[in-house]
Amino acid sequence: MDHAATTPLDSDIFQMMTPYLKFEFGNPSAIYTEGRKSRKAVEEAREKVAKSLNVLPEEIFFTSGGSESDNWVIKGTAFAQKKIGGHIITSAIEHPAVLNTCRFLEKMGCSVTYLPVDQFGMISEQSLKNAIREDTILVSIMMANNEIGTVEPIKNLARIAHENHIPFHTDAVQAFGNIPIDISELDVDFLSLSGHKFYGPKGIGVLYCRKGMKLEPLIHGGKQEHNLRGGTENTAGIVGIGEACQRASDQLKNRAAHERKLTAFLIDQLTQIPGVHLTGHPHLRLPGNASFCFDHIHSEALMTALDLEGIDVSGGSACTAGSINPSHVLKAIGLNDEHARNALRLTVGKENSLDEMKSVVDTIRNIIERLN
Ligand SMILES: *Cc1c(COP(=O)(O)O)cnc(C)c1O
Repeated sequence: MDHAATTPLDSDIFQMMTPYLKFEFGNPSAIYTEGRKSRKAVEEAREKVAKSLNVLPEEIFFTSGGSESDNWVIKGTAFAQKKIGGHIITSAIEHPAVLNTCRFLEKMGCSVTYLPVDQFGMISEQSLKNAIREDTILVSIMMANNEIGTVEPIKNLARIAHENHIPFHTDAVQAFGNIPIDISELDVDFLSLSGHKFYGPKGIGVLYCRKGMKLEPLIHGGKQEHNLRGGTENTAGIVGIGEACQRASDQLKNRAAHERKLTAFLIDQLTQIPGVHLTGHPHLRLPGNASFCFDHIHSEALMTALDLEGIDVSGGSACTAGSINPSHVLKAIGLNDEHARNALRLTVGKENSLDEMKSVVDTIRNIIERLN
């Protein structure tokens, strides 16, 4: 019940990756046959990713994950200025990979506007329009939020940025595989993906970079990835994310409908328990996300009890697990400290069943009764 934190690697994808961990170990940059085999695997994977996003293969760059992709766009855009500076617009509910990169650049001389969100976690077009300045170098807004599942109006926000000649990035790590993404239609300039969020391997990600965009490397080194990201390619990981992308787009409709059915049940049943409230948007939300906050129920106690029952859940975001600070996302939608601390996120995946949901609901109901 924590697919937003990570997903299991598909068995078929694991099978496709293993040769490249052992037998086909040639360096993709080597010119002999063994190297060329690896190069071919990398380029075939790039084509699969490009096709799943409806873009060109040369616009796809492999990275070490969603965090690197986010860091690269934001720092790489700042580094591409003559002097580090300028103004960046993002939102208050971004993933730490975006927020902490922006905070770092503030120390280096950039200024950053963190757009507020409404009670459902939505960013308004008007607030973006108002934030744009003469020296704005980038707008970075996530496609869907990892804690509350709210889906942002990316197409409209990108249009506003472009009307002002500002590049637009979206962190689509949570959205990909769950909602349709066609980059040529969305008209974004940069987009981040992470393999392990859609049944691919961990430690591999993608940055889509529209042809002609100015971006400095984050990892300097050899000439890999069109001379923009040094380092010997993670061939097995790349093969894995390529196949995972293709499957995610092929399975999108079925998977989303299945997840929507499961979360509709969870939301309907759990909000009937006194003191349990849905967080995020009532319908503009990821199909697999059901998130809640509580009156007078300690989510840590609930989570511990669920763990004993073998049910894995999150209190908000995996990245804030272990910290007692209330989630920045739940604070941004206006929850008080108690509600923001006592939250529960259930995120389902394609392998979950309705029977499992029934037992999750029963277990949660029993634990809450016991805690009360
Ligand atoms: C998981 C996640 C990331 C980070 O991806 P990694 O591959 O784990 O580095 C970035 N953004 C969002 C929205 C995420 O959910």
